[in-house]
Amino acid sequence: MSKEKVISGIRPTGNLHLGNYFGAVRSFLEMQNEYDCMFFIADWHSLTTNPRPEDIKRSVRTILTEYLACGINPEIAPIYAQSDVPEVLELYLYLNMNAYLGDLERCTTFKEKARKQPDNVNAGLLTYPTLMAADVLIHRATKVPVGKDQEQNMEMMRRYARRFNQMYNVEFFPEPANFSLSEKAIKVPGLDGSGKMGKSEGNCIYLMDDPKTIKKKVMKAVTDNGPTEPNSPKPDVIQNLYTFLEIVSTPETYKYFDDKWNNCEQQFYGELKKQLVEDIVRFTDPIRERIREIEAAPERLDRVLKAGAEAARESARTTLAEVRHIIGFK
Ligand code: AMP
Repeated sequence: MSKEKVISGIRPTGNLHLGNYFGAVRSFLEMQNEYDCMFFIADWHSLTTNPRPEDIKRSVRTILTEYLACGINPEIAPIYAQSDVPEVLELYLYLNMNAYLGDLERCTTFKEKARKQPDNVNAGLLTYPTLMAADVLIHRATKVPVGKDQEQNMEMMRRYARRFNQMYNVEFFPEPANFSLSEKAIKVPGLDGSGKMGKSEGNCIYLMDDPKTIKKKVMKAVTDNGPTEPNSPKPDVIQNLYTFLEIVSTPETYKYFDDKWNNCEQQFYGELKKQLVEDIVRFTDPIRERIREIEAAPERLDRVLKAGAEAARESARTTLAEVRHIIGFK
């Protein structure tokens, strides 16, 4: 039996942080072995915010480098730049003919973006969900890994697939299901006392941060005055540190520090932070090493993108030929 087709988009927005790794990338690594996976870097989507040409070029290569360093294997899961697959645009056009203004304007992601960039509420922003639908439907994929913020766009995608099928009385596009990342993913907290590590929060530990930078960031983590009674619940800022221990340290280490908390020991946060630094560095070291290897031989990126585009275009052409036939074009 053939494997289910899974397509995942990657936003080329700078470097990967630990939140990205444990929230998404780690699931991708599992997925690539279980499914017929393809990954694409959504560089067309990034035009909605008018980036500079040199930034686009750099960010595509940066994100590709880091995904490869994390272990995405292009031999089993092709990875391509969206802009290398022009077939997507033709399907985007067809889908736009069945996308209604009211639906598009109601999208939360559109409303948010429109609020963030009131001087640039362009049609690309408005039709972000149709381009996203084209990215997936062009391969007739059945599953898409998505975070919470993309669930509404997935609803739109299914609506477009359904509408196309009804309009032409065919069973052509599957309605792609959400492959919820949040089920398996760990929400990585910020060490500044905030609930989430994120770029806009400015509290990220990046995979490519060197040990000195990691140390600086971890040692600054917000704490409190220590436990006041045995076995008390941990306040959020302290829980954040323990969530980190759960992610990067061994269960024994976690237990060692959990016992300290539960036994109401004092002044162990310094030791805990030092341990965290050590364990984060141990975890990220091999990734950083692979990033350096790829940067030393950047031709590999061109080969990966070329092979990815070939695989994606072959699949896209097959779909598009049938779509044209269904619509009534030669
Ligand atoms: P972003 O870097 O905000 O574009 O996030 C890309 C993806 O990484 C999201 O859809 C999430 O799946 C994941 N992610 C980002 N930040 C975190 C976090 N702090 N904890 C868990 N997952 C995260």
